[in-house]
Amino acid sequence: MSEFKIEPGIPISRIEVDFEDLIGQRFGRLVVIERAENHGNRICWLCRCDCGREKIVRMTSLRIGDTSSCGCLSVELTAERRRASVPNLVGQRFGRLIVLSQNGQWCQVRCDCDRGMEKTLPAHELLSGKVDSCGCLTFERYAERQRAKVMQHRNQGGK
Ligand SMILES: [Zn+2]
Ligand SMILES: [Zn+2]
Repeated sequence: MSEFKIEPGIPISRIEVDFEDLIGQRFGRLVVIERAENHGNRICWLCRCDCGREKIVRMTSLRIGDTSSCGCLSVELTAERRRASVPNLVGQRFGRLIVLSQNGQWCQVRCDCDRGMEKTLPAHELLSGKVDSCGCLTFERYAERQRAKVMQHRNQGGK
């Protein structure tokens, strides 16, 4: 019955007996409030997280330490990592766009274009250099290309 052991020679049931009364104990952000219904033969506890949410956690998860929040901790770490990968862009200029503000995770930015249009877009699009105006520059470039084509056509036709 090796699946009932977390380390050689110590069956789960033994660990659960060792840690029978967890009420009031803290595990990371979780504080144990009361016994919850068993999950199969696993002892579970109702815990309250520092963020205010409640979560039922298996005793072994608490003991091993692989559950230390209601889930908010990993969400925060992910946001933190994303934030670390995007610099503060407020006040920076990208072509015709000046960044006015950036949202909480910094992944969305609101920009003001020189032509007076506001645009909200993902920060990575600005950083990649794909976007440098509210769309006006793209339109102007397109118009310029069309004009060039017409000129070229005329020149060739005029021979
Ligand atoms: Zn939480
Ligand atoms: Zn524009």
